[in-house]
Amino acid sequence: MTTLLWLRDDLRTLDHEALTAACEDVRDSGGAVVGLWIREEAEVDADGGRLGARPLGAAARWWNHRSLEALAPRLEALGVPLVFARGDAAAVVPAVAAGLGADVVRWSRRYAPRSRALDARIKSMLVDAGVAAHSHPGALLAEPWEVTTKVGGPYGVFTPFHRTLSEVEIAPELEVPEPVDPPGPAVRDALDRLHEEGLLLRLPALGLLDERPRWWEETVALHWEPGERAALDGLARMAQGVANYGATRDVPADADSTTGLSPRLRSGELSVRTAWHAVRRAAVDGQVSAEDARAWIRQLHWREFSWHLTFHHPDLHERPLRPQFAVFPYRQDEELAEAWRRGRTGIRLVDAGMRQLWESGWMHNRVRMVAASLFCKNLLQPWWEGEAWFWDTLVDADEANNPVSWQWVAGSGADASPYFRIFNPDTQAAKFDPEGRYVAQWLPEAVQPLSGYPPAPVVDLTVSRREALDAYEAMKEAV
Ligand code: FAD
Repeated sequence: MTTLLWLRDDLRTLDHEALTAACEDVRDSGGAVVGLWIREEAEVDADGGRLGARPLGAAARWWNHRSLEALAPRLEALGVPLVFARGDAAAVVPAVAAGLGADVVRWSRRYAPRSRALDARIKSMLVDAGVAAHSHPGALLAEPWEVTTKVGGPYGVFTPFHRTLSEVEIAPELEVPEPVDPPGPAVRDALDRLHEEGLLLRLPALGLLDERPRWWEETVALHWEPGERAALDGLARMAQGVANYGATRDVPADADSTTGLSPRLRSGELSVRTAWHAVRRAAVDGQVSAEDARAWIRQLHWREFSWHLTFHHPDLHERPLRPQFAVFPYRQDEELAEAWRRGRTGIRLVDAGMRQLWESGWMHNRVRMVAASLFCKNLLQPWWEGEAWFWDTLVDADEANNPVSWQWVAGSGADASPYFRIFNPDTQAAKFDPEGRYVAQWLPEAVQPLSGYPPAPVVDLTVSRREALDAYEAMKEAV
């Protein structure tokens, strides 16, 4: 018996249903489990639509490279070699399964419509070839189809979704499986052959690091250590981020005001179920208050809600959930967009946030909201262009959270805040960074005399707010 375990956004060994099932497949049969990770290159269908997952941005590619380096020896210790390929998964998975003579292919589910369509296609190809194919839960607290309205439909508003999800019983997490026998000579020979044929590649040949800015290795890498072991260390420190969460989660200057677990959840180094149980235990042990634990779980539910919307609506990174926003009169201006990307708008809190993003691959949630609001409201730039920049530069760039959050800020989302609530970055800075500690940390020139900062602000906040409201009225008249 040989099982191929196709890994995607589940780069871990703890609480991994597909891995556990794969190990059970072969435990007493003397068979082998082989792990496969593919740098997927999306195929295009007859209508020009992408098939499969959205290609990773540069920061997430960097993260995945390092995370896979860290995962390989952990899997090896379980008797599971990890191999790599690049290309169209619909060609690679059946070919590797055939080359290994695999009896079963297993994977953790993904939920975006185009990924689901690709996975369904691959499943039927495998079954036609006589190979069993099984998908497993693993990325969410509950499957999207398990959380429904009373009439069985999807939710479009967070609060009732949150209420229903809060009532779902969360199963206990799975332990790391016991090791299995490593592959015998037949499977090892088959792997060598697949490498010689060029179907399998060494990790560096996937080119995940090729297009990154070279200095990320010295900057982003200073802030993060990808990999499951570091994720579990982060989990052990989680209580620091959750303690006082209700009161301090909006203070961007404090590194511990939130947990920083988002890239771990995005890459699947940490299962959300593990995080959920950990915070509940921390509350029982008295490390965090029940109220703070609840507030934190509510944020995990926002993540689930993003995936719920993504499951039911394709292409949220380019298609507004509220159709009337398709005619919103954005004023595309590359110079303005570039000033925003590089943190040179002259608006201190936003510039500090954009520098934090560029240097560390992450930005505090409060500042993400303010920076995104400035981009698509005051600057009237199309939200999907800002989303694309975040997609490329965030280590936690998430196919659901990023577009859904951008649409929330832009007002085009299902459960967006009312359009007229436009963040004023100066008021936000006075409230959440009153001593300017965050700005001083990420934008040191703002507090140095003669540094030339700030440049003249690219917009007047009052005038541009009015223009954003006028643009909204113009959109309403146009539909
Ligand atoms: P904590 O406060 O410790 O929260 C724990 C976990 O809950 C997070 O790791 C995350 O998985 C989830 N979470 C927290 N806040 C939110 C939220 N508002 N929406 C959805 N899930 C949430 N989050 C991403 O994971 N990936 C993205 O690409 C992303 N893009 C965003 C873009 C914009 C414009 C905005 C406003 C928000 C975005 N977020 C995104 C949500 C949020 O900013 C991050 O999840 C959060 O900052 C991560 O920090 P943390 O792990 O310390 O969070």
